[in-house]
Amino acid sequence: MAAFIDKAQITVKAGSGGGGAVAFRREKYVAAGGPDGGDGGRGGSVVLRVDDNLSTLMDFRYKRSYSAPSGMNGEGGHRKGKSGEDLIIRVPRGTVVRDRETNEIIVDMSGQEDFVLAKGGRGGWGNSHFATPTRQVPRFAKAGLPGEKRDIVLELKLLADVGLVGFPNVGKSTLLSVTSNARPKIANYHFTTLYPNLGVIYVEEGVSFVMADIPGIIEGAAEGAGLGHDFLRHIDRCRLIVHIVDVSGSEGRDPVEDFEKINEELRQWSPELAARPMLVAANKTDLLPPESDNLERLRAHVSRLGCPFYEISAATTGGTRELMRAVAGKLSQLPPVTVYEPEYVKPLAEAGGVEELKIERFEDVWCVSGAWLERLIADVNFADYESRMYFDRQLRRSGLFDRLEELGIEEGDTVSIYDLEFTYER
Ligand code: GDP
Ligand code: MG
Repeated sequence: MAAFIDKAQITVKAGSGGGGAVAFRREKYVAAGGPDGGDGGRGGSVVLRVDDNLSTLMDFRYKRSYSAPSGMNGEGGHRKGKSGEDLIIRVPRGTVVRDRETNEIIVDMSGQEDFVLAKGGRGGWGNSHFATPTRQVPRFAKAGLPGEKRDIVLELKLLADVGLVGFPNVGKSTLLSVTSNARPKIANYHFTTLYPNLGVIYVEEGVSFVMADIPGIIEGAAEGAGLGHDFLRHIDRCRLIVHIVDVSGSEGRDPVEDFEKINEELRQWSPELAARPMLVAANKTDLLPPESDNLERLRAHVSRLGCPFYEISAATTGGTRELMRAVAGKLSQLPPVTVYEPEYVKPLAEAGGVEELKIERFEDVWCVSGAWLERLIADVNFADYESRMYFDRQLRRSGLFDRLEELGIEEGDTVSIYDLEFTYER
């Protein structure tokens, strides 16, 4: 059986912008017509999209690197290069994306919207941009900007209102199958559930919720012993826990001890999760021997802790409707499922030194390029005043303007940086 994959590391790279063209219109009787080199096309972005047909991160196990195509170069006749197509990466709902280096959350793919993970580079300007009445033969064009690259970690955290917990074989999958549309595997041996199952429980018109059955958690699971440790992350978001305990004694364990052991596992994994509201369901009551005091001992123990207590038989469905109604009632008083806020803030690119820049002069146009400048300009939103000021400060700090002065720039000349252009003033 294929393993359930709920964590993956991948690298994504957006396409670079295409280069601008140097071209001149050909006209009869005219040696060189006007410049008509078109701009380069934009590079494709890498975009994340939720796909509800996916339930694991399996696809990312073998393919770890994703890149969107670059934009095409511009051509003569003002023809713009074709833009690179966006690369859409489909993920299951509930995929949390983190920056690999800082481990900070970039986005929680739980809603409807696509997310641009890596932005494609802008295309370079063709020479037709540089034509002015006094500068009729611009023999230069611009390179495109590189696409963004990111190293990320994907982690699936299911979006379920309710998480079922309990020892293996206590009847979690059975309960899910008799109350919901889900058809999890059920068998009388431990660890039949190898991956989480989600089921929608319909209580009445307008009242429904999602319940998750995760592989059995056992003693030591929180320290990584045995199966189950990693699966606890799937109930991290749950609003409510339903704790199933087998009270029949059919496996020779004590229900009160079972209950406490599972709670201890939850606490070790996440104290926050362990503090979530909990309903306790005593299962397999149909198998309860008449002389057993298991049910009453568990009831007394649980009520001391203040948790609501229900008796059920998942196999015969006895009591399960009442339990589901109680769950729905409790959920209506609780806040919605947690959607994680982004934590990651992209560090702003910083200026390096002017020595790392390439400065080319074409008549009165000074073209400046270089790696750090590409990073800086890709980040700046020129519609935003603060961003423009930041850009300006970084340019000054690099010593660019002093260097241009040394090279003989004059007031009124043009400084051209990729697809940005301004008139030089002292
Ligand atoms: P899980 O490991 O907690 O998911 O447990 P399962 O749902 O796979 O159930 C384990 C075994 O217990 C299966 O053979 C079920 O048929 C049986 N079982 C579950 N609930 C009940 C119940 O209420 N009564 C009886 N008699 N058997 C049950
Ligand atoms: Mg199961």
